[in-house]
Amino acid sequence: MKKILVITGGSRGIGAATARLGAADGYAVCVNYRQNEAAALAVVEQINHAGGEAIAVAGDVGSEADVLRLFEQVDRTLGPVTALVNNAGILEGQMRVEQMDATRLSRVLATNVIGSFLCAREAIRRMSTHHGGQGGAIVNVSSIASRLGAPNEYVDYAAAKGAIDSFTIGLAKEVAAEGIRVNAVRPGVIYTEIHASGGEPDRVERVKASVPMQRGGETEEVARAVLWLLSDDASYSTGTLLDVTGGR
Ligand code: NAD
Repeated sequence: MKKILVITGGSRGIGAATARLGAADGYAVCVNYRQNEAAALAVVEQINHAGGEAIAVAGDVGSEADVLRLFEQVDRTLGPVTALVNNAGILEGQMRVEQMDATRLSRVLATNVIGSFLCAREAIRRMSTHHGGQGGAIVNVSSIASRLGAPNEYVDYAAAKGAIDSFTIGLAKEVAAEGIRVNAVRPGVIYTEIHASGGEPDRVERVKASVPMQRGGETEEVARAVLWLLSDDASYSTGTLLDVTGGR
């Protein structure tokens, strides 16, 4: 069976690393991106250059119309999805809850929660043995913030990731008998550009002393955990929240 992997927010960071390693693992990869087409095409080019198969597809995961278009394009160009990584995520500037307005909360929930839900729904419609599919696997990229709570920084982001944890557990049980496994990874502090949107580009350097392993994580270290959960090596794991945190 052809292995077809959709990665949301795949043009940089953890998503791009997962796309590259996934292609090396034999997946045909769809690199979804929201705005940065050049960065997405660069990831596709790296994969093609290494002998893999990849496409880039634009779409805001918080938009139902975009998500429908994304999966239809994957159907047409690669085939039905067999693996989904709900990686797209945002955090916004650090602030206390008194300053957070509903517009910010809507943005944070739209990408992190609604996006993961909509993409999972489209994947399940194609993967489920109850709908004639061949099964598959989904990995949601949560965060250890769901357990730590991110007080005085971004409790909204932590709460959104908490929703992803609950979604992972419930969905895993809902579709377990349909050939689909659903798991999550919860990264700690990883070297990516997301920290700049939180207003703290060098966050990993500041926080790493509180990590038992005394260092930040690399994107590939998260990607390898994601790919293990997607693989048949994890064939009896579903509803699992796997921390990738250096012990944090
Ligand atoms: P990143 O900012 O480099 O990557 C996030 C990607 O998601 C970007 O390419 C961005 O354009 C894309 N994106 C954002 N909103 C989108 C939308 N609505 N539709 C489609 N794409 C969208 O950061 P990253 O660290 O690689 O983040 C990947 C995931 O890892 C996120 O879910 C993040 O919350 C999670 N995470 C990161 C860390 C860390 O320390 N870097 C820790 C825990 C969890």
